[in-house]
Amino acid sequence: MPTDSDCLFCKIVAGAIPADTVYETDSVLAFRDITPRATVHVLVIPKSHEDTLGQMAADHPAGVADLFAAAREVARLEGIEESGYRVVSNVGADAGQEVFHVHVHVLGGQQLGPVGP
Ligand code: IMP
Repeated sequence: MPTDSDCLFCKIVAGAIPADTVYETDSVLAFRDITPRATVHVLVIPKSHEDTLGQMAADHPAGVADLFAAAREVARLEGIEESGYRVVSNVGADAGQEVFHVHVHVLGGQQLGPVGP
């Protein structure tokens, strides 16, 4: 499984940095964002390192499907599947991506504002 020793999320996958895990499979890990922007704010990441969702979509589209399936499972576990939730990924600098290990944000548990800049 590709890993990057300098990558924060690879360190979380390895257990070197603690995380508040809410869901895990062989290929995916979901944990609470350290700076939550909503009542529910969980990050879903692949365990193998890839920089961006765009690159992963090109290289491993099935892995992207796994991320979205895991996001739905997180929403179910967090009790927000019925009320609604947002799945969003920042891809690259202009989007404000800070951690260059693929992740989707699962946001919910409250009324969310419109998507925008
Ligand atoms: P990005 O801006 O889409 O790259 O989002 C990165 C997210 O990672 C931000 O929402 C951060 O709050 C979150 N984050 C950074 N470090 C940690 C950590 O150690 N644990 C959990 N979340 C983190």
